[in-house]
Amino acid sequence: MSYITNVTHFLDEDGYPVHSGPAGRIGEFFGKIVAAASLHPQGIAVPSALRCRRRPGRKPCRGNLLIARRDDGVIEWQCPLCGDDGFIHSWEGTYWDRGKYAIPDLVSEDIIEFTVTEDEFKELMKPMILSPESEAILYSAILIEEVELCAPFDAFEEFMGEVAFEANHTDNRRREVILTQICERIETLLSFHDIVRDF
Ligand SMILES: [Zn+2]
Repeated sequence: MSYITNVTHFLDEDGYPVHSGPAGRIGEFFGKIVAAASLHPQGIAVPSALRCRRRPGRKPCRGNLLIARRDDGVIEWQCPLCGDDGFIHSWEGTYWDRGKYAIPDLVSEDIIEFTVTEDEFKELMKPMILSPESEAILYSAILIEEVELCAPFDAFEEFMGEVAFEANHTDNRRREVILTQICERIETLLSFHDIVRDF
């Protein structure tokens, strides 16, 4: 069945996400779809890195969502694996509308592409203190064979700092190792980009 969602139903009277209980979880699911759609151009179906939320036979569906923002503004989403799908409206200007953090129309050499594995992406999507610009890097991630993150140089520099902060402050050793490795790879990529840019 298709869900038709008014995203404001999952926001409190101040416009912030309802965090507790099932409404909080499903609201976050729809919210991330809105964030992804608002960060990508209108009219194209994006192979998002966001995972399907269904659990057929109590096992998580391994599908990744296809998300498209139609010309009339309605967001369509679908899991190609299990067929779960829906429409979202009334999202413009809400907490989850991240359109103002979309990558500006820069020439391609100013945009950095960085690839992480699905496991690494899962770790990055766990709660962490991130600026809206850094959240945009994650919400706009697409999955081709691996997860591709795309942002301008400065945004990646900030993102790296925030992930490093989380790596230094988590009590979870495994999380620390994964996040530290991600930071080291971003640093290498950025320093390489610096050399190229200086030519
Ligand atoms: Zn699915």
